[in-house]
Amino acid sequence: MKSGNNGFGNDIAHSMAVRLVQYLVVPTFVLDAERRVTIWNHACERLTGIPAAEILGTSDHWRGFYSGPRHCLADLVALEQYDQLAELYAAHTRPGDFGFGLCAENWCVMPIKGERRYLAVDAGPIYDDHGQLIAVVETLRDMTDQKMAEIALEDLATRDSLTGLANRRSLDKKMHLEWKCAQRSGSPLAFILADVDHFKAYNDHYGHQQGDECLRAVAEAIDTSVFRPSDMASRYGGEEFAIVMPNTDLAGALAVAERIRLAVGDRQLPHDRSTTSPNITLSLGVAAMTPSARNSTERLIAAADAALYRAKHEGRNRVILAEANDEEAD
Ligand code: GH3
Ligand code: MG
Ligand code: MG
Repeated sequence: MKSGNNGFGNDIAHSMAVRLVQYLVVPTFVLDAERRVTIWNHACERLTGIPAAEILGTSDHWRGFYSGPRHCLADLVALEQYDQLAELYAAHTRPGDFGFGLCAENWCVMPIKGERRYLAVDAGPIYDDHGQLIAVVETLRDMTDQKMAEIALEDLATRDSLTGLANRRSLDKKMHLEWKCAQRSGSPLAFILADVDHFKAYNDHYGHQQGDECLRAVAEAIDTSVFRPSDMASRYGGEEFAIVMPNTDLAGALAVAERIRLAVGDRQLPHDRSTTSPNITLSLGVAAMTPSARNSTERLIAAADAALYRAKHEGRNRVILAEANDEEAD
């Protein structure tokens, strides 16, 4: 587009453009080519709690969003430093996906307002007629409510509502994923099945509500006994729990299973109707396999289930390891 034909017209157009951005309802700031703030609009003042007067002419725009100095999306666009995107943002487009600009999303700490906000950010460069960068415009959208709803929904889909542990669906997904990883790496995958002893008698004696409380306490004991972030403890169904442990052999899984059994014992949850102990106890079956043509996740689970069955028959409140003939466990 041709620029204005006289200085007076240009001045009016420029001040009109600035005013337009100032009053835009979308929080927006503009950096010049040296990454100094030239516009910090009213919506951006409201979002960050920082008046424009404090920020204009500085390169302190990060102060609105983060507690320490770091690059904002507009800086990355101005500097063309795209290798930092993954490190600095929870989600982002790739350079070139949308012309010259970038979109990204992040949890921001909003230090002045003292509240965490999930912001969707767009940053686009502006070039002069010679292709020289003259400014970068960054616009922000507060997506906190949508993000929280998304997290709540995800939680609902992946967590067991009674115990807060991962649900069966997440466990199945995790097993599938970890089996594939173990196939590639040639490392063992371990699986523990844990079942509360004489729980029908517990429910009958103490009532279903107390039964639920008991399952919560058992789940907590299991959760605190599973340390590694790559492991997953889940409610397998009813009064059964399952633990998946990547890169873990039978000896490693035995140690975790024994830790779980002792942690539940330590809680001393009274169970007057148990013929095994005066307190709630667990029986556990443990299996581990390195993926091969002979085995599968189904065989791993079946091996742990067979071991659990033996734990029940050998007197409960114990950990039993799968044997080679329990579906060919390694
Ligand atoms: P064993 O020692 O052989 O495992 O015996 P058990 O009584 O624990 O096993 P059984 O499978 O006969 O009973 C399981 C009981 O768990 C029956 C069922 O009512 C109870 N149960 C399953 N899910 C829940 C739940 O969500 N809440 C409560 N309160 N009870 C549950
Ligand atoms: Mg059971
Ligand atoms: Mg049981």
